[in-house]
Amino acid sequence: MLAESILRFREMGCLVVGVLSFLDFTLDQYARLCSAVKASKYQVLTVREFLERAPIEGHLLIMRHDVDEDARNALDMARVEHDLGIRATYYFRVRKRVFVPAIIDEIASYGHEIGYHYETLDKTRGNVEEALSLFAVELAMLRERYDIKTACMHGNPLTKYDNKKIWENCELDHFGLIGEPYLSLDYSQFLYFSDSGRTWLGDKNKIKDRISSINLPTVQVKDTGDLIGLITDGRHKKICILTHPKRWSKNLINYLTYYMIDLAYNAGKKLILVVGWMLGVTFLL
Ligand SMILES: [Zn+2]
Repeated sequence: MLAESILRFREMGCLVVGVLSFLDFTLDQYARLCSAVKASKYQVLTVREFLERAPIEGHLLIMRHDVDEDARNALDMARVEHDLGIRATYYFRVRKRVFVPAIIDEIASYGHEIGYHYETLDKTRGNVEEALSLFAVELAMLRERYDIKTACMHGNPLTKYDNKKIWENCELDHFGLIGEPYLSLDYSQFLYFSDSGRTWLGDKNKIKDRISSINLPTVQVKDTGDLIGLITDGRHKKICILTHPKRWSKNLINYLTYYMIDLAYNAGKKLILVVGWMLGVTFLL
């Protein structure tokens, strides 16, 4: 009885925290972030543009989006950016509700870069040969409609595979690709911020979105308002921002759904760390 009450109390607590953080990770707040970027001294480039034009002097900022769950959330973000004249890079997984050509067509029509968010080692349970074949198939599906020049790995915290390990046996060039953000960007040159784990803080809940321990942000921002301040300030020349559109909802129900999913994922990640430590295995730390 007591345990049940405690559990219910904790659930209510999570919900309250969720409602409070709704004030931060919303589409309106994302629009504020984009407005700050637009008004700042940063030149906004897609991943492809950055790689094709490098080296580039001056202030620059890359907005990268990993579309993991629902393409409709990506479309909301894409419209916000388009209204402000910002072009970003969107990486789409090849799976239901994400690979939706009607939606991706509209995002592409705004001039955003469309990229491939691959997870082929996960899908083939670690078989590198099959993973490379599947990579070719899925990339070809996307290329039927879009000019794909960059691909970015999807990091599923609940699997033991590191999807980018396919590149130990193959070159990006083999698929006509010019870059992979985890391999092709020099993060010692960038301040890197990610909303993974529903926080901008560098080290929390980010097992597979971590670049490496030496590349954690030297500057920490605790919320989106802080990030806006940092961009307006313009003290750091190169910034890369990764967001997951599913986290930036336009209504509370949608927001709380993904908030609770994130809670479950983060609990799962902690469990993975503990089990990994007990077994003497490191999961991509
Ligand atoms: Zn992803």
